[in-house]
Amino acid sequence: MSSTDPGHRRDPEDRSVRRAWWLLSGAFIALVVLALARALTTSDPLAWGLLVAAGVASLAAIAHRDAVVGLEARGRAEAENLARILRGLSRSVSVDAIVGAIVDDLAEGTGADHVVVVRRRADGGVLEATLVTRRAGVPNSSTVLPLGDLDLGAGTSMVAVPMAVDPADVEPAAVLLGTRAAPVAPIRPGEWPSAPTLRRPGMDSRDDRLDEGGRPGRAIDRRVRAGGSPAGLRPRGGSGLVGMLADVGRRRTATESYAARAPRAEVIGSGPSAQVAARIAERVKAVYGLSHTLAAPLRTEAGVIGAIVVSRRDRDAWDLPARRLLEGAAIEASAAFARAYSFREAEANASTDPLTGLPNRRYFDEFCGLLARRRRAGDAVAVLMVDIDKFKVLNDTFGHPVGDVVLHEVANAIVSAVREEDVPARIGGEEFAVLLRNPGPDVALEVGERVCAAVRALDLSHHGVPGISVSVGVANATEADEPIPAIIERADQALLRAKRAGRDRVIAG
Ligand code: GH3
Ligand code: MG
Ligand code: MG
Repeated sequence: MSSTDPGHRRDPEDRSVRRAWWLLSGAFIALVVLALARALTTSDPLAWGLLVAAGVASLAAIAHRDAVVGLEARGRAEAENLARILRGLSRSVSVDAIVGAIVDDLAEGTGADHVVVVRRRADGGVLEATLVTRRAGVPNSSTVLPLGDLDLGAGTSMVAVPMAVDPADVEPAAVLLGTRAAPVAPIRPGEWPSAPTLRRPGMDSRDDRLDEGGRPGRAIDRRVRAGGSPAGLRPRGGSGLVGMLADVGRRRTATESYAARAPRAEVIGSGPSAQVAARIAERVKAVYGLSHTLAAPLRTEAGVIGAIVVSRRDRDAWDLPARRLLEGAAIEASAAFARAYSFREAEANASTDPLTGLPNRRYFDEFCGLLARRRRAGDAVAVLMVDIDKFKVLNDTFGHPVGDVVLHEVANAIVSAVREEDVPARIGGEEFAVLLRNPGPDVALEVGERVCAAVRALDLSHHGVPGISVSVGVANATEADEPIPAIIERADQALLRAKRAGRDRVIAG
């Protein structure tokens, strides 16, 4: 290693470099002494010329040595930055942690003022951009970009829906209660690796972690907790969600004209993924008003999932170490994102019933446990137990495969009959449960009747099945702190009574 690191043990290459340097210095000194002796003893002008040349050569040698030491130091800093990013990434299992692990070291290592990490959300519906500013005290900002930016054939109009909201704009209660709807694209069943199909649009894909109010957290909440837009770098448009949404039209014009003025984004690599990274860089430049960007694509086996964009105010070209660091960070971050997404997918599979797409018993029990811990005095809870009538006969008559189709249809009927905030699950062979959150006094019975009616209305004639019915047992919490397993038990008893009373009915316990 270099002489700037005296504690470091020298390796053989280092020793030979030093030996060559001493040889060179010795030869120069000998040359200067000889030339000086000759110049002083004779009046030979060549001797003076030699002396001047030797002086210039030694100055050049010293400059060369300083440059080599500088290069070495930069190389070492680059390697250390990448090593720090790698260490951070290896400990990161969540998407947010991955973003956190990259940005600081990347900003420092590349000399960027801002780092924007844009990645496709695990639910597949949108691109989420997180902007981190190097200036101390400036909070992160998150923005949702159209998924079309990942598509090479997409148009070039600039429309963004900023998600970041100044904490000052939002009353804390509203944040916790999730009363602000998050303007995210609807999530369709099957697109949601970490959540069963009952998840509603706008809920974060890790919403099985309830918020402080016992309600599934919403995407917007997480963003607000993470901080609002950084000062001076608010996404262009009005303040607050309503203002931003109302402002989309005006912003389109502003951002388009900005894009026309701004220099084109520099990208690492070439080919289709680099083109996607360029498109994303243009988008974030326009949305945040950034200049002088350098972008690298985030790629997994499934294709390009986003890009990392670094930006700075000065116009100096991005140097090679900065490019190499960004390239390395993008490769490692891509691998970390792929790991995080597959982890969440595995988690989702473990809590989803594959036949109906509903949450399974495991998820339902876990959800009840979480809800119990977060329940507040006055939070009402009710449970519906739903069981298909004479299902064994149906299986025996029409065959197991038709029975499976009927199970699927019944699951859909239940989902269509319950409210957004309720949690239906398949908890056994032909048994379903629905957890009703905050139902009014008669709501549970009403929902039970709707479930019965929806199943009765199913048209299964194309499977040769004339019609089916379900029996439903309903139980409301009698006291605010009645344990959920006790409510489930009472709903089960009510279901039994419904069966005994002749099936195809709702009975409250
Ligand atoms: P009841 O009206 O009293 O509920 O009668 P039942 O026939 O519905 O109830 P029983 O518990 O006697 O039978 C349940 C049947 O559900 C038996 C089992 O073969 C069937 N079953 C359980 N899981 C599945 C499944 O995944 N697919 C199919 N096709 N059938 C299933
Ligand atoms: Mg049963
Ligand atoms: Mg049954």
